[in-house]
Amino acid sequence: MAPRFLHFIILLLFFICSSATLGNNHEDPTTKTMEDFSGYPIHESHSCISNTLSALSVDAQTLQNQIDELSSLSDTPAPSVTRILYTEKDVLARRFIKNLMRLSGLSVREDAVGNIFGRWEGHEPELAAVATGSHIDAIPFSGKYDGVVGVLGAIEAINVLKRSGFKPKRAIEVILFTSEEPTRFGIGCLGSRLLAGGEALAKALKTTVDGQNISFFYAARSAGYAKDQDDLSNVFLKKGTYSAFVELHIEQGPILEEEGISIGIVTAIAAPASIKVEFEGNGGHAGAVLMPNRNDAGLAAAELALAVERHVLESGSIDSVGTVGILELHPGAINSIPSKSHLEIDTRDIDEGRRNIIIEKIRQSASTIAKNRGVRLSEFKIINQDPPALSEKSIIEAMKASSADLNLTHKLMISRAYHDSLFMARVSPMGMIFIPCYKGYSHKPEEFSSIDDISNGVKVLALTLAKLSIQ
Ligand SMILES: [Zn+2]
Repeated sequence: MAPRFLHFIILLLFFICSSATLGNNHEDPTTKTMEDFSGYPIHESHSCISNTLSALSVDAQTLQNQIDELSSLSDTPAPSVTRILYTEKDVLARRFIKNLMRLSGLSVREDAVGNIFGRWEGHEPELAAVATGSHIDAIPFSGKYDGVVGVLGAIEAINVLKRSGFKPKRAIEVILFTSEEPTRFGIGCLGSRLLAGGEALAKALKTTVDGQNISFFYAARSAGYAKDQDDLSNVFLKKGTYSAFVELHIEQGPILEEEGISIGIVTAIAAPASIKVEFEGNGGHAGAVLMPNRNDAGLAAAELALAVERHVLESGSIDSVGTVGILELHPGAINSIPSKSHLEIDTRDIDEGRRNIIIEKIRQSASTIAKNRGVRLSEFKIINQDPPALSEKSIIEAMKASSADLNLTHKLMISRAYHDSLFMARVSPMGMIFIPCYKGYSHKPEEFSSIDDISNGVKVLALTLAKLSIQ
């Protein structure tokens, strides 16, 4: 056994045993939980340690096998993974996860859109539960760790705690969120948005179709969900359902690996706003129309793309980013002045007010550019404008303490990608644990995290859940 891990066990037990000694009254339910966990009266702390030492460990080999097996449920060949919402492979993957949840002794339930919950009942089931989880859908030709580590790792974290003999006071739930990726219906974090009470989304889904014109509800029913009705309001979580939500995820960036740090503790999640812009001009022959007589929709788009960069840089914060990821010209011929242009702009920040100022500046630039170039701004549409989320201080402290107890290096950081946690933060105090991934690669087959790094993440998650579940 590695000394570092031994240290973790001793500290976990110290934490639990010392927490237990806080309550002098044997009737105190917290003390009772601690005694149940240790299997001994709380004053016999030595027995408590020696009897639990051998039981507390991550089953790394099994976890790696599960990650590999799940990756084989893919519509594209290995090493790539493609798993799209409500397809046959997605349904098989869900079955795989539900089986693992049941094997871990969790009671499984599913809601109308296929969010899956595995519950480990606590000592005091009437208290708000502590939750953890992530997603298992994968965009076309992506990797096998994004999301998956936070679902399989969460089930293993429960196993770690169960093997140790720990019994939570609050229930602990593992959640598999439906469709974190927007691949099929163009809506990212579909499941967690609905859990957070997305009434507008529930309404919009009634008329939502995929690229093949298959309706959301037809697809959901073919996967065994949304059977009885089109009303999704029963998916919304009641506020106070969870006392805490913690997501384990690969970093999807290079910082932890570059700095040789084991654990990233997320303090805030940047939220994207997406904007669609269209300019229309008169077009014309590339040779015949002289320069002073042109109103070139393509140049308006080019100018706006540069304005986006300028406005983002003007914010003065490294946390403000903006990207023109789509820029299309019509008719798209070398000898034709573009008569139409279409841009899609993504801008993000952890400060909502600062991001909204950037959006407003982009709007002003779009109309000024249109005016100056004699083109029409035929569309300026904000597709989504989600607020960023801050992690809860008490959860940050629990994650920091857990990393320190485990003798693992950690770093406070911002999540620049968004996750289901962004939406869970609307209905629960939230925190996120990052682990290193190879060169920061994600959403491609080269995506990789070592099983040692994953195991460290699982240990920090397990200890954090243990701490939160006895609060
Ligand atoms: Zn993810």
